[in-house]
Amino acid sequence: SKHITGHTGLLCLLGSPVAHSVSPEMHNEACDQLGLDYSYLAFDVPEDKMPQAVEGLRTMGARGWNITMPGKNIMCRLADKVSPASEISGACNTIVNDNGVLTAYTTDGVGFMRAVAENGVDIIGKKMTLLGAGGAATAILVQAALDGVAEINVFNVRDNFFGRAEEIVAKLNERTSCKVTLHDFSDPEVLRASIADSAILVNGTSVGMAPKTENTIITDTTMFHKDLFVFDVIYNPQETRLLREAKEAGCKTGNGMYMLLYQGAASFKLWTGEDMPVEIIKEKYFSGK
Ligand code: NDP
Repeated sequence: SKHITGHTGLLCLLGSPVAHSVSPEMHNEACDQLGLDYSYLAFDVPEDKMPQAVEGLRTMGARGWNITMPGKNIMCRLADKVSPASEISGACNTIVNDNGVLTAYTTDGVGFMRAVAENGVDIIGKKMTLLGAGGAATAILVQAALDGVAEINVFNVRDNFFGRAEEIVAKLNERTSCKVTLHDFSDPEVLRASIADSAILVNGTSVGMAPKTENTIITDTTMFHKDLFVFDVIYNPQETRLLREAKEAGCKTGNGMYMLLYQGAASFKLWTGEDMPVEIIKEKYFSGK
């Protein structure tokens, strides 16, 4: 809200660092556009101070908040109620405070599904190849499985792949009709075979992100095929080497910018019940990124 009064409600972002985030601009603009009396601020809170920050916000009656790294996991444990997606991943990026009762949600995966759909691509009932098992990748994995993607092959490299990701995959196979399997990157032929009959390839790793824009997670571009939609979670740069090469191979592509916008829109809806005016936000804050 531009006009702050004694009635103005508080929304905010918790994490560290937070100063680079586009969320304050996005949510304040949306509130101004719709005449909603909230102000959204960013607070730099390290993980060990999260419990105190959360108790403060609960006591002060903040309507809700976003959580970015490193607080996404601990916040889930501090909430009173947890959405199915957050329960499966053990992480959340959004809290709604209903008169002191805190509910945790994950809207990153919701943002991903909407970004794909807005590209005119239907992945429900289809197969997905997902690269990475970090925060962004697991949010995508969980939402895609809950929403009805038929089969997901997850590829990752390092040792932690056998820890948290394995638990998430077991829960998804038990609770959804999606068939999820974990693979190692080490055999390129397994990856090639997975991509060959996938409708969508998602880069959920940070490979290709600025400043190392010369990197790509798919070095063998013969793995691309014309029926493949290639999505990159990275939004800086907007067109990664992966997306450029996929386009050159005739693939349709989508980048992480609109995933970021739509996760914000989904959080906004949870707090306010209103649809974020995404076209205005796109034009003002996402066009030049
Ligand atoms: P994490 O650190 O949680 O995950 C990073 C992932 O990348 C891990 O799976 C990691 O593997 C993998 N990885 C890193 N380096 C390599 C490599 N050289 N080869 C193969 N895999 C590698 O980060 P986040 O998930 O938070 O972020 C990842 C990217 O997503 C960032 O670029 C971030 O900006 C973007 N992002 C976009 C969002 C959006 O809305 N568009 C939302 C959140 C993030 P391992 O587990 O083995 O270490």
